[in-house]
Amino acid sequence: MHISPALARIAPSQTTAMTDRATQLREEGRDVISLSVGEPDFATPPHVIAATKAALDAGQTKYTPVGGTSRLKRAAALHFARDLGIEAPASQVTVSAGGKQAIFHAMMATLSPGDEVIVPAPWWVSYPEIIHFAGGKVVPLHTHAKDNYRFTAADLEAQIGPNTLWLMLNSPGNPTGACYPAEMLLSIGEMLRHHPRVMVLSDDIYAPINYTDAPHATLGRLCPDLADRILTVSGVSKSHAMTGFRIGVATGPEWLIQAMERLQSHSSGNPCSISQAAAVAAFEGPQDFLADWCERFRARRDLVVAAINAIPGLSTPTPDGAFYCMVDAAPLMERFGDDSALALHLLEHGVAIVPASAFCGHDGFRISFAADQATLEEACHRIARAVA
Ligand code: GLU
Repeated sequence: MHISPALARIAPSQTTAMTDRATQLREEGRDVISLSVGEPDFATPPHVIAATKAALDAGQTKYTPVGGTSRLKRAAALHFARDLGIEAPASQVTVSAGGKQAIFHAMMATLSPGDEVIVPAPWWVSYPEIIHFAGGKVVPLHTHAKDNYRFTAADLEAQIGPNTLWLMLNSPGNPTGACYPAEMLLSIGEMLRHHPRVMVLSDDIYAPINYTDAPHATLGRLCPDLADRILTVSGVSKSHAMTGFRIGVATGPEWLIQAMERLQSHSSGNPCSISQAAAVAAFEGPQDFLADWCERFRARRDLVVAAINAIPGLSTPTPDGAFYCMVDAAPLMERFGDDSALALHLLEHGVAIVPASAFCGHDGFRISFAADQATLEEACHRIARAVA
């Protein structure tokens, strides 16, 4: 066995591992509800499917430019301007195999040994692993349920040092659903003006799933003077239920986009040509269904929050966005030991979730409520029975 030091630094993704385990158990005939992966259960919109078929029929099955077709770059630029308020020419847009690859390439392309990345915790499982693989150091910025899992500019500034290169900013956030309102981002931007080395990776993949009264806010729109050090990542996976298509898009300074594409030219080459055609349809086609999907997610959120808070020993705040709940199970830890043991116990009772420790949380678990209401109700019954 020959494992590189870089690979030895990282663990497998626990979100995908738990989902694979649930799939395996189902294939063995077990009745398991999987609320482990963040994947909308809605069908991919018909106009996207039609564009996918049309691309195949038109023979769009060959290589494309590494960073995406010019057509998709223009469509992604339209998305950034229309949906996030970030104006960028197509030359400052790149396309990758999912948002995950854009983040991976951004870190690999920029981090040197000793560079630090501030990551608000609880965090999405892949941020720290990507940073470790790229040779950077993760600096956790702990946030708490009582603060809606948000940090302030002062909290952030306390973590910034001479080696800080990036801040990961994910709003709406996975796994907490935290949403940063414009005024908080403006004060974070103001503070960052005093720290010119620090770049920001703004992961806006959950932007359309926002339950607050305020429109989605993002640093790239609010602080255009910082544009030369903000990389904004978005995509179609969560917004258009296209997780399997693997298309992510990013916009940032030209040098960084070019650096990411240089790496991509050797890692994967272009993202799937068929998926790119589908993503053009997603960005350019009708968007009105998004509001309806968001309302359906809101109803599911309300159902899960009420059901979980009614179970003795479990509690969860109400997330402001995305489709995750971070459930606190601290009162049960004496019985179960730790949250991984609790997760296995819940799996035995037919529900797959991801333990909070996977996200640098503790004594709890993440529920993805991107499932229909009947499934969510049954899952909550099973959780109640399992911990009773
Ligand atoms: N981002 C989703 C999640 O957290 C998809 C799986 C993954 O890539 O982690 O469940």
